[in-house]
Amino acid sequence: MNFDTSAIHSGLAQGQFAGASTVPIFQSAAHSYKSAQELADVFAGAAPGHIYARITNPTNFALEKRLADLEDGIGAIAAASGMAAISSVVLGLVRAGDEIITTNGIFGGTVSLFANTLSRFGIVTKFIDPRDADNFKNAITAKTKLIFVESLSNPALFIPDISEIAKTAKSANIPLVVDNTAATPYIFMPGDFGASIVVHSTSKFINGHGTAIGGAIIDTGNYDWLNGIFDDIRDKAGKAGNFAFLSHLRNLICRDLGGCASPFTSFLMLQGLETLGIRMEKHCDNARKLADFLNQCDDVAMVNYPGLAGNASFETANRLFGGRYGSLLTFGLGSREKAFKFIDSLTLAKNLANIGDAKTVVIHPASTIFHEFSDEKRIELGIADDMIRVSVGIENYDDIKEDFKNAIEKTLRR
Ligand SMILES: *Cc1c(COP(=O)(O)O)cnc(C)c1O
Repeated sequence: MNFDTSAIHSGLAQGQFAGASTVPIFQSAAHSYKSAQELADVFAGAAPGHIYARITNPTNFALEKRLADLEDGIGAIAAASGMAAISSVVLGLVRAGDEIITTNGIFGGTVSLFANTLSRFGIVTKFIDPRDADNFKNAITAKTKLIFVESLSNPALFIPDISEIAKTAKSANIPLVVDNTAATPYIFMPGDFGASIVVHSTSKFINGHGTAIGGAIIDTGNYDWLNGIFDDIRDKAGKAGNFAFLSHLRNLICRDLGGCASPFTSFLMLQGLETLGIRMEKHCDNARKLADFLNQCDDVAMVNYPGLAGNASFETANRLFGGRYGSLLTFGLGSREKAFKFIDSLTLAKNLANIGDAKTVVIHPASTIFHEFSDEKRIELGIADDMIRVSVGIENYDDIKEDFKNAIEKTLRR
C-alpha cells in the first residue's frame, strides 16, 4: 500500500472487530481466559493474546501496526508520550558508565533527559554540532552505546545527514536512534537511510489536532541484534530473531517503567494518521509561504526555515526530504521584548507549548521550554533570546499572513 492508503487502512483488516469502520477503543485493563492453562500459555509467549494494558492492548496494537507500516519497520511499541518512548529506548540500551552521542539544537525535554536525569545514573551524554558528520566519528568511544539525532531538529531545524551518520554508527556497530517527530514518515523515513530505531512524539503531527499526548518506538530492522553489542538483547535474539529489541522493550523495559499508551489516546492517534499526508502537504505549503514572507520583511532580523535557499539545511532537505521542509520555522525581531510584543499582538495564532497542531501556534523558547537552562547553555543549544518558534497550521494562508503582518506592524510601531 502507498503511504496515504496505509495511513487509513493499516492495522484494521477487513471484517476485523465485527467489521467496525475504525479501530474500536478497547477500554479494558486486562483480558480474561477460560482456563488457567490458556493464561499461563499467553504469559509464557506460547500462545498469542493480550494480558494487561500496560504490556499490550488491541487498540494500541492497531496503532503499532499502522506506525510500523508507515515507517517501513518490523514492529512498533506505542508509549504514553514522546518522552516515554525516548527514555524507554535509551534505558533499554545503556547502563551506568555508558555514553550517548547526541546533538545540539534538539527538543528541550530530551536535552534535559540526557543532561539532568540520565546523568544521575552515571550515563554520560556528549552534545555535538550535527552540521559536520565527522563530529559523530570523533565522539565515539568504546563506551558509546547509541547515537541519538532528530531528523528535523526542534527548534534548531537542523537536518543532519542521516545516511552519513548511519554509516558511522554501522561501522562502530552501534544503533542510530532517530526522533522523526517533526519530519513525520510522510516527509522522511529514517529507516530507508540506515537508522536503526525511530521514535516519535505522536502528540504532534501524528495526532494533528492537539488532543492527546503519546509516543511510539519503531524498530526499522536495520540493526542486527544477534551480532550487536548488547549481551542481554543478543541472548534474546536466539529465540526472537531480529524482534529481540522490541521484545526486550515490551517484556522488560517498557513493562517495568510503565510508560504505556492509553487505548483512548491510541484511537485518537489512529484517527490523526488517516489525514497525515494531506495535512503535511498543507503544513509544508503554508510554512514555505510564511517563511518567504518573513524573509522579505525588512524588520525581521532572522528567519530559519530549511526551505529557504541558503539555509544550512536546504541541501540535506532537498536530498533527504525530497524538497519538503516541514511546518516549523523560527524567526527573530531583534530582542526578547519585541518577541513578547509580537506574541501579545497575534489574534489568530495561539501562544502555547506544542507543535504539529492544525492551528498555527507560536512560542518564545528561551523563556518557556528552555527557561531552566543558563544563558550560556541556551547559546550553546542555539536558543537565541529573540527567537520565536512557529508551527505553521493548516488554516487558509492569507489569514495566517494577515495575523503575522499585523502583529509585526504593531510590534514595531512606536
Ligand atoms: C514534543 C517532542 C518530544 C516529546 O514528546 P512528548 O509527547 O511531549 O513527551 C520529543 N521530541 C520532539 C522532537 C518533540 O517535538
